[in-house]
Amino acid sequence: MNGDSDMSNPNNEIYAKRRAAVAQQLGADSIAIIPTAPERQRNRDSDFLYRHDSYFYYLTGFSEPNSTLVIQSNGSSTLFCPPKDQEREIWDGIRLGPDAAPSSLGVDQAFSSDQVDAVIAKMTENCKSIYYPFGIHAGLDVQVGQWLTKARNRVRYGALCPANLRDLCAILDEMRLIKDAHEQDIMRAAAKISAGAHIRAMKRSASMLAQGQEVREYHLDAELLHEFRQHGSQYTAYGSIVAAGAHACILHYRADKAKVNNGELVLIDAGCELDGYASDITRTFPANGKFTGPQRALYDLVLASQQASIAATRAGARFTDPHDAAVKVLAQGMLDLGLLDANKVGNLQDVIEKRAYFQFYMHRTGHWLGMDVHDCGDYIEPSELGSSHTRHDALTGDVIINRPARILRAGMVLTIEPGIYVRPAAGVPEQFHNIGIRIEDDAIVTEIGCELITRDVPVHADEIEALMRW
Ligand code: CA
Repeated sequence: MNGDSDMSNPNNEIYAKRRAAVAQQLGADSIAIIPTAPERQRNRDSDFLYRHDSYFYYLTGFSEPNSTLVIQSNGSSTLFCPPKDQEREIWDGIRLGPDAAPSSLGVDQAFSSDQVDAVIAKMTENCKSIYYPFGIHAGLDVQVGQWLTKARNRVRYGALCPANLRDLCAILDEMRLIKDAHEQDIMRAAAKISAGAHIRAMKRSASMLAQGQEVREYHLDAELLHEFRQHGSQYTAYGSIVAAGAHACILHYRADKAKVNNGELVLIDAGCELDGYASDITRTFPANGKFTGPQRALYDLVLASQQASIAATRAGARFTDPHDAAVKVLAQGMLDLGLLDANKVGNLQDVIEKRAYFQFYMHRTGHWLGMDVHDCGDYIEPSELGSSHTRHDALTGDVIINRPARILRAGMVLTIEPGIYVRPAAGVPEQFHNIGIRIEDDAIVTEIGCELITRDVPVHADEIEALMRW
């Protein structure tokens, strides 16, 4: 949401609470420095569409570039933002400006961004520790070094120079991992828009083919974009994947110009970003609205594995439980359908232990979702960091360090996205060649299970066929 100088942001209290929570976790006499993202040049004098930094936005709700937030351990917050400038505002848009920032955003004080160096250098004097997000902002380390030098130059006048640099991500990542009610509401809204976009693309594919029109991947991509923007989404959450036929077996394929043929499957992995939050849906559907026998067999297998995954997602379970549940179903299905030959790879346990399923399922079953599509947050349980153990991999003999996976808690949001990708190879039944299927939904973890927020787009094969009937 853009700051508006005439009124205060209705969510100010939410951001103020988050800043207070950060302040509480800083050691005494410390400051935290959180810059937003820079503008990035696309070519010559055109920039890429601007996207704020997620940490900065999480603590301010402010989306102007060239801004920096400082939180002090005494709880006070300072914003540096672009100054009012009539000429620049005529070209680039209205700026909030430092005078209006405190009342509009609820920060304690604000300065023009060109005062960052002078004011922060002064603030670091007499601090014990400086916190900032490590490894995110190019050049920030150098800047911090310069502020330290200035503080050190004042030591002979009795000032203290900070002795510790700490990674602020450690604090912010843990906070962002649990989505509060405000965040969950936005994510539900984003998911709803994305679900509508998938429906639109499915229908369009079937109707164009039924009318004898040529369908290209970009036609379906256009349907997604239309639906996203139509409902106020500001961006796609990531580059949309629209993969016709064999392209579905390329995991990070992007929507391109390939022809979508009658009888092929189309895999679409796409989601919008709404008010700073991502959604992430994958559906795989028959281009003409009717699954063939082999397509349906693999589809139903992936769906069954997703159902097992969903059933394993609840507070108290480990992050790895949904993946393990999916692998079990997929591996058994690969044996049953003849993708894997039991005479060569052994039974289910062998397939899992020696990862024979990897030929057809080579990625994890989910990731955190939030402001970033691959959201921040450790996948290791922090309360059990000390209890790692090593083992020898059954396949390679390599030593592997096993650290206990994160225990899921209510309010965490993750994707559940098993798949199967059959590249042509010797011994692989020809009827399955070049079929790639992934089914992905977004889940909010609850005490008793999980809430799927993306199910406005159908997932059962029969329902997809009914939706696409032309
Ligand atoms: Ca995805």
